[in-house]
Amino acid sequence: ATPAATMVGTTIGAGNGVLFKGGDVLERAKDVDTVVFDKTGTLTEGEMELTDVVVVDGTMADGGQLDRPEGLTDDEVLRLAATAERGSEHPLARAIVEGARDRGVDAGDADGFENVPGHGVRATVGADTVFVGNRKLLRDVGIDPSPAAETMERLESEGKTAMLVARVSGDGDSGGELVGVVAAADTVKGSSAAAVSALRDRGVDVMMLTGDNERTARAVAEQVGIDPANVRAGVLPEDKSDAVEAIQDEGRRVMMVGDGVNDAPALAVAYVGCAIGSGTDVAIEAADVTLMRNDPLDVVKAIRVSDATLAKIK
Ligand code: ADP
Ligand code: MG
Repeated sequence: ATPAATMVGTTIGAGNGVLFKGGDVLERAKDVDTVVFDKTGTLTEGEMELTDVVVVDGTMADGGQLDRPEGLTDDEVLRLAATAERGSEHPLARAIVEGARDRGVDAGDADGFENVPGHGVRATVGADTVFVGNRKLLRDVGIDPSPAAETMERLESEGKTAMLVARVSGDGDSGGELVGVVAAADTVKGSSAAAVSALRDRGVDVMMLTGDNERTARAVAEQVGIDPANVRAGVLPEDKSDAVEAIQDEGRRVMMVGDGVNDAPALAVAYVGCAIGSGTDVAIEAADVTLMRNDPLDVVKAIRVSDATLAKIK
């Protein structure tokens, strides 16, 4: 495009809350044939709220009900989870800690805390080690998550992120026990479905990339109109950029849309990286375009401004 057309396009974009970092990205955007959305904070509001606390007795092989003289109550499961999560900045951790507070459950102090990226947290609470996270987190330390399988599946098919709570007692005589499940949910942004449908009308393929599990991801995909076959779930933070590269290796021109620190490398390798304005600075720096209104529909606007700018030179 001519410098004048580029300037007009950049100005029109800015007036619509779409900030292009340069003339070349303004030209590229119209050629995007695949838009890959991050889920949390991009298609959803990114404000997780605690929805469920379920006691699970990990010692019951058949998953049935039993008298649990030594079992924990809901509040005790929640207290363990909140105590372990207090040191984490993750949106899921905040949902658990705030949810506990709202229910009048005081989180205790953890003596040690470790983030396990893409999996959960582990904390030292008194003589015990407490784990809160996904199935893999528990399997990796030899705790069987299967007694909670049905509970997990039910919550996930409701689009919630379900997390296992387990502890290993300090005396070391019990291996580790699963004590419960907590779940958090996020609301899908009001315009996510409209954005997906406008992109599809244009012939652009729409995909979702998330660290969250398959079942939750699919439930959210269904709400916004993304084909379940186009969902890439359980992608570890360090693997998101590889996932985008793999899609581009099929000859596609990908616009990646994301908000998190986790998304930054993927935004950088994408043909066009598009950051949500309320997202982290790292994501905004890595991206070529920033959507100031945090509205997924502005993805469509970015492509249209690019179309219009290039049309002017013909
Ligand atoms: P996303 O890409 O959705 O932001 P992450 O890669 O951060 O997800 O995490 C992937 C999964 O790991 C989460 O869906 C959750 O099951 C688990 N997880 C991550 N962090 C935590 C945490 N602080 N507490 C519990 N579970 C967590
Ligand atoms: Mg995100």
